[in-house]
Amino acid sequence: MRRTLYGQEHEDFRAVVRRFYREALVPEQERWRAAGMPPREFWHAAGELGLLGLQVPEEYGGGGQSSFLFNAILTEEAQRAGLALGGLRVHTDICMPYFLRYADEDQRRRWLPRLAGGEAVAALAMSEPGTGSDMRGIRTTARRDGDGFVVDGAKTFISNGATADVIITAVRTGETPGPS
Ligand SMILES: Cc1cc2nc3c(=O)[nH]c(=O)nc-3n(C[C@H](O)[C@H](O)[C@H](O)COP(=O)(O)OP(=O)(O)OC[C@H]3O[C@@H](n4cnc5c(N)ncnc54)[C@H](O)[C@@H]3O)c2cc1C
Repeated sequence: MRRTLYGQEHEDFRAVVRRFYREALVPEQERWRAAGMPPREFWHAAGELGLLGLQVPEEYGGGGQSSFLFNAILTEEAQRAGLALGGLRVHTDICMPYFLRYADEDQRRRWLPRLAGGEAVAALAMSEPGTGSDMRGIRTTARRDGDGFVVDGAKTFISNGATADVIITAVRTGETPGPS
């Protein structure tokens, strides 16, 4: 007997994703490659289809799903279609959980609807020219300045970095090194 993690609702979602990738993304690949990034219309279209805010609660404009299996389908279908789409997955699978877990109510109201709808693009800035896997080595600092922070440092390899509207950034706020 063939066993699968996926139920009918996942397969229905898969059909929508597969069609979107095939019709809207595959024909555009060369143009995007030349431009170095997907255009904003891509983010808007993905948001309209409900692909960007899968776990975002409905009150903030998301799909209210609790299962990560929908995200897995986005990745599986991208591989099937030969699409890289790393920026999409950084937005949905890596940045979104930070917002859902750590953002305060103001930040949730400000960002979640825009991130779910594709009006805003998110990036995660951890890697630095001298620091990759071992985050104890990060040198970028953040110093309190009134209501905000002054961030000083350099980041590299940041997916969506050139187009992001909001960047979750790993910084040092004290002198002491982090836990080993
Ligand atoms: C396509 C792409 C997209 C990326 N997007 C982002 C992004 O959006 N945001 C971001 O912050 N970064 C991003 N990165 C950077 C990525 O996260 C780093 O490349 C990664 O953390 C590894 O760091 P490094 O390349 O400096 O390798 P290193 O950390 O120097 O590792 C080099 C090698 O040593 C191995 N190694 C490291 N530590 C250990 C250990 N303790 N024990 C055994 N082996 C070890 C590693 O497995 C690897 O094989 C991206 C990278 C790529 C290629």
